Amino acid sequence: MVGNYSMIREIKEYAKQNNIPIMVDDGIDFLTTFILKKHVRSILEIGTAIGYSAIMMALVDPNVKITSIERDEKRYLEALKNVKAFDLEDRITLIYNDAFNVKLEEEYDLIFIDAAKAQSIKFFEMFEHNLKTGGAIITDNLKFHGFVEKKECDIPSKNLRALVRKIKDYISYLKSNSRYDTEFLDVGDGISISIKK
Ligand code: SAH
Ligand code: MG
Repeated sequence: MVGNYSMIREIKEYAKQNNIPIMVDDGIDFLTTFILKKHVRSILEIGTAIGYSAIMMALVDPNVKITSIERDEKRYLEALKNVKAFDLEDRITLIYNDAFNVKLEEEYDLIFIDAAKAQSIKFFEMFEHNLKTGGAIITDNLKFHGFVEKKECDIPSKNLRALVRKIKDYISYLKSNSRYDTEFLDVGDGISISIKK
């Protein structure tokens, strides 16, 4: 475990050096506590990056199995290296592809959406059939570094304004989706938890 701790620090350092947006500490704490409390066994993650969140989720409970999708080759290869370093190849399956090209049959206890922020509705609709009844879809970055709470005129670029609009659309979508009970948490960079009824 002491070895794990320093390896995790190295992954976080790599993410910082290479501008890779891994989940913030509060978000990871929430996610891992949720996995323990709800006895989550199977997880589908959209957006592996370098494997940080997948590894943290796997380490919290030896019964957890994760499938995680990443479309960026360099990040995928780095994730593969990290998963091997933690000896977690048997519990973390990495898929190198655009999530929109991936068809899965399995049903999961938890789907963690942490990929392109403008596409969350599409990811939700594409993978919800892979969620068990009573399972949860958790989405990260609903505050998007605080920009979602800002007035449009205070957001510096057009692209960022468009992205913020998409995130707001996703929030409305979750609120009006009666097949799920959704809670929004002011944790980390903003998290939603949608439980499938
Ligand atoms: N979950 C990671 C961080 C993911 S960052 C962690 O907390 O450690 C988001 C990642 O999603 C990026 O690496 C990006 O390449 C990937 N991504 C974005 N859109 C995607 C898509 N359509 N399919 C697969 N991966 C995607
Ligand atoms: Mg994130």
